[in-house]
Amino acid sequence: GSLGPLRCAKALQLTLAVIKPDAVAHPLIVEALHQKILAHKFIIVKSKDLVWRKQDSEKFYAEHEGRFFYQRLVEFMSSGPMRAYILAREDAIGYWRELMGPTKVYRARYSSPNTIRAQYGLTDTRNTTHGSDSVESAQREIAFFFPEFHVQEWMERLEPSFRAGQ
Ligand code: GDP
Ligand code: MG
Repeated sequence: GSLGPLRCAKALQLTLAVIKPDAVAHPLIVEALHQKILAHKFIIVKSKDLVWRKQDSEKFYAEHEGRFFYQRLVEFMSSGPMRAYILAREDAIGYWRELMGPTKVYRARYSSPNTIRAQYGLTDTRNTTHGSDSVESAQREIAFFFPEFHVQEWMERLEPSFRAGQ
C-alpha cells in the first residue's frame, strides 16, 4: 500500500460459519451466500458439506439444553446437509454475525432487512446460518467441525502471509 511502513494491517481472526439445512436445500441460496462471503473479503480457509447425527446436534447445542426450542433445534440441525466454513478476516467473528443479522428472523426482517437471516430465514429455528459469537466459541466450534485443523498453527504459520496479501 501507499502508506508504506505506516500501513500495518490488523491480525486476521478465524470464525466458524455454517449454512444450515434450510438453506442448503436450495442451491441458489447456497451460491448466493458463498458469493457474499467472497464479496466481503473473507478468506475461505476450509469448507465442507456434512450431515449431523442427532447426537452431534445435541452436543453442539448443549448450552441450550432445556430451552423451549432445544428439541426443534436439534432435530432441524440433523435433518439434512449443511455446509461449514472456517473463514478468516479482520474481525471475522463480529463481521460475520453482522452479515447474519439477529437470531430471530422476524426481528431481523424488521430491524435489519439487508441481513442474511432477514432475506433467507424461514423461522426462528430455521434461520439459515450459524456464526461463532466469541474467540472462545470460534476455537471450540472450529474443532467440533474440523477436528484435524489446528487454529494455533494456522495463526502462527499462515496468518502472516495471508495478512500481507490483504
Ligand atoms: P445464534 O448465535 O444467533 O445462532 O443464536 P443462539 O446461540 O441464541 O441460538 C442458537 C440457535 O437456536 C439459533 O440460531 C436458532 O436456530 C435457535 N433459536 C435461538 N433462539 C430461539 C428461539 O427463541 N426460538 C426458536 N424457535 N429457535 C431459537
Ligand atoms: Mg449462538
